[in-house]
Amino acid sequence: RVKEQGKNNFEFYTPEMNEAISKKMKLEIGLRKAIENHELALVYQPQIDLETGKLFGLEALVRWDHHEWGMIPPDEFIALAEETGLILLIGEWVLYSACAQNKALQKEGYPPIRMAVNISSRQFQQPNFAGMVRKVLEDTGLDPMYLELELTESIIQDSQYAISTMHTFKKMGIHLSIDDFGTGYSSLSYLKILPIDTLKIDRSFTRNIFIDPKDASLVSTIITMAHNLGLKVIAEGVETTEQLHFLKQQKCNGAQGYYISKPIPAKEITEAWGRFSCF
Ligand code: C2E
Ligand code: MG
Ligand code: MG
Ligand code: MG
Repeated sequence: RVKEQGKNNFEFYTPEMNEAISKKMKLEIGLRKAIENHELALVYQPQIDLETGKLFGLEALVRWDHHEWGMIPPDEFIALAEETGLILLIGEWVLYSACAQNKALQKEGYPPIRMAVNISSRQFQQPNFAGMVRKVLEDTGLDPMYLELELTESIIQDSQYAISTMHTFKKMGIHLSIDDFGTGYSSLSYLKILPIDTLKIDRSFTRNIFIDPKDASLVSTIITMAHNLGLKVIAEGVETTEQLHFLKQQKCNGAQGYYISKPIPAKEITEAWGRFSCF
């Protein structure tokens, strides 16, 4: 290693940088193994209809339980998975598992609800992504109307290709939503041209409804705008009864958050059904 202290510093890799790089490499190797060793699992967060108080959907969220490192949150590995392309493998596994889980619930006789799956932009831009989704629906036997793809504003921004893919999904009868709405820097004009069904208000707004009046204004404005455009709205990150009542008052269509339920493992879903008619 070239090391020269002084005016010109030739030390390209500081110990901190080395450590960061090797941590990343370890994580990448671990993630590849996790896929092979089935260390990935899904949890499901209930989504509630604010008018009826009933469960109308679940959002599938990936979890990585490493035998030594313990639980690693998606915020720590999804970006890396995108960078390395591993997201394509993970994403397909997530989609298949979530659709199969939803179909299994229907087979058990539960009323059909929608399963929302997060899609990263690299996944969405992959050639024949729509073909993969179609095959997963065929293989699992899930009706496309019970699948929702959560897209982010970054996906929408660009290409004609992304737009035409969205229309393909729409024609298939798949539900499309914009996740973390309001946090991207994209122009609102896409709302006019894209076949989107639902906006999901980012939890950074929900969190501050009673802390910053400007957040309350933004939340009610997003709801009004969405309704005027013929879209539904779901608020993310509802943690208190006050937030829930504010959202109800503002005619927000749906909500999810710790106040309603944390994300739960599959075996707890059926139990959750009974719980949501209480407000
Ligand atoms: P997201 O799609 O916006 O998902 C919502 C996140 O907020 C989840 O974090 C959820 O556990 C958390 N959350 C829900 N309710 C509350 C609440 O009341 N308070 C607070 N503080 N947090 C709440 P999670 O599961 O850690 O996922 C983080 C992000 O990782 C997700 O954000 C999503 O963008 C990404 N992600 C998760 N699973 C997948 C996946 O299968 N594929 C892709 N591409 N991304 C995923
Ligand atoms: Mg999401
Ligand atoms: Mg997301
Ligand atoms: Mg979100």
